[in-house]
Amino acid sequence: MRKAVPGQGASRGNALGRARVREPHALEVAEARIGPHEVEAELARLHAAIEQVRSEIRAMRDQLHGALAHEVGEFLDLHTLLLEDPELLHGLDALVRNDLYGADYALRLQRDRLAAVFESMDDAYFRSRIEDIDHVIGRVHAALHAHEAELQGVAGEILVTDAISPSEIGRLQAQGVLGIVTCGGSALSHASILARSLHLPLIVNAPQALGMVNDGDVLVIDGSTGEIVIEPNADDLRAYRTRLREEKRERKQLRRLRREPSKTLDGVDIRLYANAESREDVAEAHSIGAAGIGLYRTEFLFLQGREIPDEEAQFRAYRDLVLGMTGRTVTIRTLDIGADKADETGLALRYEPNPALGLRGVRLSMARTGLLETQLRAIVRASGYGPVRILVPMVSGREEIVAVRRLLVRVQQDIAREGFETAERIALGAMIEVPSAAIALPVFARDLDFVSIGTNDLVQYLLAADRNNDALGELYSPLHPAVLRLVHSVVRIARARGMPASVCGEIAGDARFTPLLLALGLEELSLHPSPMLEVRRAIRALDLGQLRARAPALLRARDRAGIERWLDSAQPVHLPG
Ligand code: PEP
Ligand code: MG
Repeated sequence: MRKAVPGQGASRGNALGRARVREPHALEVAEARIGPHEVEAELARLHAAIEQVRSEIRAMRDQLHGALAHEVGEFLDLHTLLLEDPELLHGLDALVRNDLYGADYALRLQRDRLAAVFESMDDAYFRSRIEDIDHVIGRVHAALHAHEAELQGVAGEILVTDAISPSEIGRLQAQGVLGIVTCGGSALSHASILARSLHLPLIVNAPQALGMVNDGDVLVIDGSTGEIVIEPNADDLRAYRTRLREEKRERKQLRRLRREPSKTLDGVDIRLYANAESREDVAEAHSIGAAGIGLYRTEFLFLQGREIPDEEAQFRAYRDLVLGMTGRTVTIRTLDIGADKADETGLALRYEPNPALGLRGVRLSMARTGLLETQLRAIVRASGYGPVRILVPMVSGREEIVAVRRLLVRVQQDIAREGFETAERIALGAMIEVPSAAIALPVFARDLDFVSIGTNDLVQYLLAADRNNDALGELYSPLHPAVLRLVHSVVRIARARGMPASVCGEIAGDARFTPLLLALGLEELSLHPSPMLEVRRAIRALDLGQLRARAPALLRARDRAGIERWLDSAQPVHLPG
């Protein structure tokens, strides 16, 4: 029977397909013993499951190509190593053979033992391995149970699950999954950002989904509205086809704007830079005429595996990025690991009591000896291949920028002495995403060459609303008078100094908010390439003079509803073309 389940759209696109339900692997297995005569059969069952998982991982590894092979491959290699670990295998055998435990319970005991060993270690890197153990043991456990093991071959299906990690998103996309629905999660998580970058429809925050969807149900999902329809009827299917047709028509119209300028009706050029992480993003940014790269999140390089990329590996990645943009400016952000961007390298602290307020971004870069210097060396070397700017995340005040600048100057001198060709000048800017930096900007703007406003974090820190906590509902929103006033003040201060200012948070990629950002004084935005043509279309239909004249009304809005009303009245009219 037809049912509709609400969720939140996190990555656009429509999908129609069979549901694949993945229950969480809780491993809450009750103690169960077997008889001595059952030992051999139980061991055979267990080893068959381990072998199945090994070959699943091998098959996944073989299917990966391009950037994904690099990004996801290292996780898979680590999981293969764990599955071959003699400690794990002998321990399991002994629990079944000597203690007569069933395979499931043996898995659980062995998981707890290994986790206790890793947990007791001082080294954050080793402690962080527990997640991998859980993942691997969870997969073997699922393989012991035929219905869960079916997760193989999810191609052409829509995955319904409790949660999803960025590395899984990459793998599932490579396997051909049509879309994903998760019970929790937020549209601003890294998994969501990656799904958008891969054009994979994703719906998050659909808490009823796991309870209502059954394996094999037919689903229609709409990644824009967040609507999930179970067992769609004829009307739903018709509506789905209409949406597909509209999407196609819209894409065709937008493609015409690839070579058009992002100029307002009154002739002001708004520079659209791209937020780009993968080679594909860079190619897309280039092909749709992005002014450059406004945000390259280097943490993606560090999230790929358990090794910290050395200077050479980083240099190659940054150089390729610069070469890919053929002379357009590339803004490389120094490492912003920590909080929800927990890495596998052990760099970020795993057990901070309050990670969003913890050792994150520039704080971590400065606390780990050599980390920032290596990164700056790699960036400075890449500057020999084209224009580069450096952006520092999570700046809270002047001291951090002064320290980074001092190190940058020394690194530039060292690199020049070593005989590398580099740019003479590399602009240094700050992300304005911690309220203290926004408020104190007048007293340290002269230490900066440019600023980029990170609204994703600015909203979370200004409103004390966790960007990843779906329970907060609409509380986490840029449509708050405090956010608008602060953004406006940052732009005004930057302007007064003739310093470039952009917004690189997700708000910049939503064409509905374009009038608001222009009214607040922005003339530079940085956004993912996929919505860039929509934003360009909005810019081309807006009159900047009129919007600026209406800025005081926007800044006088008293609440979200007032801002929404202003936004509704400022939407451009697009003539069919
Ligand atoms: C931001 O905070 O707005 C931002 C662009 O950075 P990130 O989403 O990587 O934290
Ligand atoms: Mg941020």
